[in-house]
Amino acid sequence: MDYQHVIDGVASALPVGKVVCVGRNYAAHARELNNTIPDEPLLFIKPATAVVSLDHPIAIPSYGGSCHFELELALVFSQSLSRGCSQHQALEAIAGVGLALDLTLRDLQQQLKQSGLPWEKAKAFDGACPLSQFVTLERAGDLQQQRLQLWRNGKLCQDGHSSEMLMPVLSLISYVTQFFSLWPGDVLLTGTPAGVGSLRSGDQLQLALSELIKTGVEVL
Ligand code: ZN
Repeated sequence: MDYQHVIDGVASALPVGKVVCVGRNYAAHARELNNTIPDEPLLFIKPATAVVSLDHPIAIPSYGGSCHFELELALVFSQSLSRGCSQHQALEAIAGVGLALDLTLRDLQQQLKQSGLPWEKAKAFDGACPLSQFVTLERAGDLQQQRLQLWRNGKLCQDGHSSEMLMPVLSLISYVTQFFSLWPGDVLLTGTPAGVGSLRSGDQLQLALSELIKTGVEVL
């Protein structure tokens, strides 16, 4: 794996760890998939083997039917957090703020859900978590005042705002660490706004995080 976290243009010495993800953290996205809005965050994990760089073209699996993009605000950590850490500890541990695609084999996920089976094959496959370069929290500013935009072949598909999160970032970090310790190099994905859709070979994606990150990537 040639992926390394890059923060403010510098390759980081942080290892590449697991990715903790939250489902349905934006009400409009839960509604578009006819899902109920959960009382508590729905968590799942992608392993380090799912992480790839958004600086390289995206490969989507040949199995599993449609592969959906989900644009998400991503955080990388430089300190360990556990046991329902405080929001202050959470803030201190954030090394970078960036963008992720939570790639999801939607047809396979539906089949697995209907059978009561775990989602890993639909969410945690190799390459299922393309990550952008990160910027420091200092540069990013308020985590709840970030705009997330994704254009597919020039058409704006996702245009969300982190103020719409059901559980804001620092509360989410504290909640996650009740169950899963976060280690240096681990990443948190904070859920996708509405507008998800299928990827096709040859698609050109443009992704933006406020005025902080703008990047393009091709689907192989
Ligand atoms: Zn997601």
